[in-house]
Amino acid sequence: MASKMASCIFCKIIKGKLMSSRPKIPCFKLFENEKTLAFLDINPLSQGHALVVPKFHGEKLTDIPDDHLTDILPITKRLVKATGAVEYNILQNNGKGAHQEVGHVHFHMIPKPNPQEGLG
Ligand code: 5GP
Ligand code: ZN
Repeated sequence: MASKMASCIFCKIIKGKLMSSRPKIPCFKLFENEKTLAFLDINPLSQGHALVVPKFHGEKLTDIPDDHLTDILPITKRLVKATGAVEYNILQNNGKGAHQEVGHVHFHMIPKPNPQEGLG
């Protein structure tokens, strides 16, 4: 576990060592408390695409103790409100075969652009 943590991009971000695996591309912290960090996805699927990340290293949801997950939903809801999204996807992948790219549990909050935006 220790060696996996040392090479984990999200553990490095949590420790404040970097905000991006590609340092020249800006990456923004949105929310932080004792247990949780939220920041913008470096390769967003839509404007406001955020990642909500427990500050506990574990690859899959089932690896994380419940008390490290208690803030995930309230923070995700706050981010949805902050973007003004009416429709959105919450996504959470577990394992390479399930399309997990970063081996540290995270929840995607992906706003759908509002249909009225950009018109008139
Ligand atoms: P997964 O496929 O594991 O569910 O999603 C991982 C997400 O993390 C991807 O959407 C990817 O763009 C994002 N990501 C990977 N490396 C970094 C990084 O260094 N900084 C930020 N902000 N996002 C990252
Ligand atoms: Zn980690």
